[in-house]
Amino acid sequence: MASIFSQIVEGEIPARVVYEDETTMAFLDANPLALGHTLVIPKEEYERLNDLPDDLASDLYDTLQKLIPVVEEAVDASASNVAFNNGEAAGQEVPHVHGHIIPRFEGDGGGP
Ligand code: 5GP
Repeated sequence: MASIFSQIVEGEIPARVVYEDETTMAFLDANPLALGHTLVIPKEEYERLNDLPDDLASDLYDTLQKLIPVVEEAVDASASNVAFNNGEAAGQEVPHVHGHIIPRFEGDGGGP
């Protein structure tokens, strides 16, 4: 069974896609921790960050770098938490690598 994120890649499940290229995709989190909470994934399904082949890890990093300022600007945030939950015991619920971009705002309490 393909992961829920693979089903989004295939267009089988709707998502608010904010970016897509040949190897990566980004869409809004369905249960956002903050306005603009965005998930960035490799289109190909790997469970953990350390499973990614180097070229895909590089593509994913490039997309994250590109999108962090775009996401922050879109919601007028001044910073963001960028995080990967890597493995179930670390809180990873979807077994398909994804980076969280969680916008942060001045005076919002600090810390994830
Ligand atoms: P994790 O805990 O695995 O690091 O994060 C999984 C994230 O995926 C959660 O923040 C959750 O809200 C989000 N999520 C789970 N299912 C869906 C879905 O079907 N669509 C979208 N857009 N986000 C999802």
